Amino acid sequence: MGTVNGGISYWFTEDGLPAPREPLPGDTSADVVIVGGGYTGLWTAYYLKRADPELRITVLEQRFCGYGASGRNGGWLYNGIAGRDRYARLHGHESAVRLQKAMNGTVAEVIRVAAEEKWSADLHQGGVLEVALTPAQLVRLRAFHEAERAYGEDERLLLGARETAERIRIAGAVGSSWTPHGARLHPVKLVKALAASVEALGVTVHESTPVTEIRPGHAVTPYGTVRAPYVLRCTEGFTASLKGQRRTWLPMNSSMITTEPLTEEQWESVGWAGREALGDMAHAYMYAQRTADGRIALGGRGVPYRFGSRTDNDGGTQRATARELRAVLTRFFPQLAGVGIAHAWSGVLGVPRDWCATVTLDRATGLGWAGGYVGSGVATANLAGRTLRDLVRHDAGRSGAGELAALPWVNHRVRKWEPEPFRWLGVQGMYATYREADRRERVGRGAASSRLARVADRVAGRG
Ligand SMILES: Cc1cc2nc3c(=O)[nH]c(=O)nc-3n(C[C@H](O)[C@H](O)[C@H](O)COP(=O)(O)OP(=O)(O)OC[C@H]3O[C@@H](n4cnc5c(N)ncnc54)[C@H](O)[C@@H]3O)c2cc1C
Repeated sequence: MGTVNGGISYWFTEDGLPAPREPLPGDTSADVVIVGGGYTGLWTAYYLKRADPELRITVLEQRFCGYGASGRNGGWLYNGIAGRDRYARLHGHESAVRLQKAMNGTVAEVIRVAAEEKWSADLHQGGVLEVALTPAQLVRLRAFHEAERAYGEDERLLLGARETAERIRIAGAVGSSWTPHGARLHPVKLVKALAASVEALGVTVHESTPVTEIRPGHAVTPYGTVRAPYVLRCTEGFTASLKGQRRTWLPMNSSMITTEPLTEEQWESVGWAGREALGDMAHAYMYAQRTADGRIALGGRGVPYRFGSRTDNDGGTQRATARELRAVLTRFFPQLAGVGIAHAWSGVLGVPRDWCATVTLDRATGLGWAGGYVGSGVATANLAGRTLRDLVRHDAGRSGAGELAALPWVNHRVRKWEPEPFRWLGVQGMYATYREADRRERVGRGAASSRLARVADRVAGRG
């Protein structure tokens, strides 16, 4: 069978597109207007409305809820947050430990809400297993493991080659690090259930309503303007399309493939009974999950960035990228070389100039935003939603500041990206360097390659 390319994502193809919601009918007002119907916008609406049922909240979504990364991701609900190490340098280790603990709690919070709301999102808390496939990756894995433990992850385990193979039989895996703070989920089932719950709580959701401009007190669309004292931008990888935001967050592509369902014998040869979210320690890393319907869904960077901050075309991805991801799959599991690839797709992430996720409310203007999660937004968007709730309610005099507002990622500002062509050159160069570093590591020239990757990190503002 052929491979479907695009169609938003495999998850939407499998679970179906949602019934469309009405566009904005004309000018109106609200207490809070949220731009973007992904996890960030919807979690924010959810927690705000639960805290203050009388608040008039409107969500404006350019296509339909889940159209962005929230309907296309790898379904790793895990405790990683972009920028933690930099926040440790800026605000001190203890502050970053608090952020890490909040992220550990966020994984548990999403699982708690899903159970309370009776959402079926194929959640399975098998933790996250990150594996090393080369001696150089093993060195990085050990350092990574120790660093995570220093941020308070006492439950994390370092596993040798045999223990790793007892979990998942990956060709050439020499060790791994496992954390319980992770779960696999079905991204689209989660976003659809969340959107339905938000609407059931009484939030107004308008789809097919692109916001062209955000300014204090106003979200402007072709169909009318919503006026509100708080306007929250939750547009992640699409942010560059808003007036005045072209260089705020760089839209970075990530692509995925999913296999045809594996047979029982194939699963026996792979193992993976614990359904861990699976990743590796390559510079251009991969991520994967064993899906509830018996497939492997696997992602990686592919073609990372399109000139001029152009975003995607309903999830279509380059054939070469799909081929590269297939090569990763068969490198990990050579016994699956003949397995068909059912679907390939891509989505966009938001990358700030310093690679640090942030959540911000500017009290002078009532403008807020959250994102820049790079590749770790499934859980982080929930923490952002609860934090935006607290920031708005505190500013409106409805509550105290709360603990979340004191986390180091709150109200963090960073400069914009360079104009083109420097933006394109920088990101292409960084990923070409990562791929070269990974290649050298595979052929046994590890130490120099890590230096190469560190230079790329520094040039891109990531180190
Ligand atoms: C292929 C891929 C795999 C990933 N895998 C993982 C993973 O396994 N684990 C993990 O933690 N993270 C992962 N991520 C990242 C994660 O999916 C995102 O960080 C997260 O979904 C971001 O949620 P969001 O609501 O902020 O953004 P989005 O889901 O992108 O939502 C933004 C929404 O805003 C809408 N919008 C944009 N502009 C406008 C406008 N002008 N007007 C109105 N609406 C607008 C968009 O249509 C979109 O629906 C992955 C991302 C991709 C692309």
